[in-house]
Amino acid sequence: MQRRNFLKLGAATGLLSLVEPVKAANVMATSSSGKISGPIVLSTWDHGLAANKAAWEVLKNGGSALDAVEKGVRVTESDVENRSVGIGGRPDRDGHVTLDACIMDDRSRCGSVACLEGIAHPISVARAVMEKTQHVMLVGDGARKFALDYGFDTIKTPIPEVKKDYEKWKKENKDVFKKPEINHENHDTIGMIAMDANGKLSGACTTSGWAYKMHGRVGDSPIIGAGLFVDQEVGAATSTGLGEAIIRVAGSHTVVELMRHGYSPLEACKEACMRIIRKHDDLTGLQCGFIALDKDGNFGAYSIYAGFNFALRTLEEEKLVDANFDRNW
Ligand code: ASP
Repeated sequence: MQRRNFLKLGAATGLLSLVEPVKAANVMATSSSGKISGPIVLSTWDHGLAANKAAWEVLKNGGSALDAVEKGVRVTESDVENRSVGIGGRPDRDGHVTLDACIMDDRSRCGSVACLEGIAHPISVARAVMEKTQHVMLVGDGARKFALDYGFDTIKTPIPEVKKDYEKWKKENKDVFKKPEINHENHDTIGMIAMDANGKLSGACTTSGWAYKMHGRVGDSPIIGAGLFVDQEVGAATSTGLGEAIIRVAGSHTVVELMRHGYSPLEACKEACMRIIRKHDDLTGLQCGFIALDKDGNFGAYSIYAGFNFALRTLEEEKLVDANFDRNW
């Protein structure tokens, strides 16, 4: 049931000369884990490939991980073909496209927006919350007002194709409230974590969330510690999948704390998934996936079910990697 094909782009040539004097990357990728020296960016799903490219433009020029992750996920937010992030996102069951995003840097500064409507780049609004206010999180009308006050670009959502799908869905599902089918076209946040040439870590996460959710529902993605967590002393992690389950175990924070206590990124992502498995009686359709990077450049990923992958960009390569997983569908 894997929705996304394994796509190997192979080693990108000529990258090494662009990033002198940064040390050449040492990539020893074994399935979904490895160790890198030099800048690195990882992001969830295959839309991560395009996002990583934009992030890499920043990293290869010696830019900060914070700028890289913001620039990177903005690509996905602008993608009209993407049905789970930004402008092309699906609405909630009342027809509103509500966007969630958060960002966190190496100094443990963080910013977040949730249930934000009609703004093109929630991630940049989240960054502005972090940098321009004393708060961490703004939601709903307050978040929108803040974004408008700061002159952020507006968008009209749902876009026509998405609206058409929604009208059809509404007719067929008026009285049903089904579990989402993650891995099946309607659900895949972008979470991105990066380390720059100075070894600084940052992360960003942005989504339109669970398609046809209840109005006002917020998942893990904008919650610091659930959808994203960065601690420069240890590493960074981000998640995708059923937000309700990820929040229950404070997923990304759990991954970082496990790394603090000696777990490798892969082991930490696996234990977070196993914790979710242990805490849910019904695992039907309950997909969750984590990617993690420690401060030494080790990375790893794990998901509950097969089908989760992540995009990796280093000095030496640019590729999509299948995450390790616990079970097949
Ligand atoms: N985690 C997101 C949410 O629950 C959705 C996803 O990753 O697909 O809102």
